[in-house]
Amino acid sequence: MSTIADNITQVSSRIHAAAQAAHRDEHSVQLLAVSKTKPAEALREAHAAGIRDFGENYLQEALGKQLELADLPLIWHFIGPIQSNKTRAIAEHFAWVHSVDRLKIAQRLSEQRPSDLPPLNICIQVNVSGEASKSGCTPEDLPALAQAISQLPRIRLRGLMAIPEPTENRADQDAAFAAVQQLQASLNLPLDTLSMGMSHDLESAIAMGATWVRIGTALFGARGSQQTPSQP
Ligand SMILES: *Cc1c(COP(=O)(O)O)cnc(C)c1O
Repeated sequence: MSTIADNITQVSSRIHAAAQAAHRDEHSVQLLAVSKTKPAEALREAHAAGIRDFGENYLQEALGKQLELADLPLIWHFIGPIQSNKTRAIAEHFAWVHSVDRLKIAQRLSEQRPSDLPPLNICIQVNVSGEASKSGCTPEDLPALAQAISQLPRIRLRGLMAIPEPTENRADQDAAFAAVQQLQASLNLPLDTLSMGMSHDLESAIAMGATWVRIGTALFGARGSQQTPSQP
C-alpha cells in the first residue's frame, strides 16, 4: 500500500513532467490537496510530506479539521458549492474560495470578510460543459459577473475555476481547459489564477495554463462512497 508521502512524490513528478512538456516553469503550478472526506490525520501526514494548501468541499467537515490541525500553518481553500447561509463562516475561516458562481455570494463574502484578515482570494467557477454540470456560471454571464466581483472590497478576484465533464479523451480534456483559458484572457482583468485539473486530467490542465491543480484521489486514495457526507 502506498503512503501519502509516496503519492505526493508521484503527483509532484506528474506536475513536473507536464510543466516541462508545456515549457512552463514548474513553480507556476501549485498543488492543492483535496482532502474532503479524509480524516485530519491524513492531512497531518500530507503536511509532514510538504503539503501546505488543502481544499475542502463541506463547511462543517472543514471547520472540524481546522480545529484539530490548528497547530499547523495550513492554508485552507473552499472548493464546494456555497449556500448563502454559509458565507460568513467561509469568509472567516478560509484564505481562498474557488467556487464562487454568482454575485450575491461574492457580495456576502466581501461584506463578511473580517477586516483584520487579508483580502479573500476568489475564483469564479465557470461551467464549460453546458448541461453536464450544474455548478458554475455560464460563459455568457461571466464577463459581467467578473467585472462586478472585481470591484468588491476585501475580496480579490484571482481567476477562474472549472470542473469540465470527466473524460479520458485527451483532446476533449484539452478543448475544455483551453476554453477556460480563453475565457480568462477575454476578460481583460489582471488575473493570475486558473484552478483546473484533477487526478485524472492534470496533465491536460497544466498544458492549458492551470496554476492550481486540485488533487484528491491521487494523493489520498479513493473516497469510499459510504463516507461521502451529504451536502449540508
Ligand atoms: C473532489 C474534488 C477534486 C478532486 O478530485 P480527484 O478526482 O479526487 O482528484 C477537485 N476539485 C473539486 C472541486 C472537487 O470537489
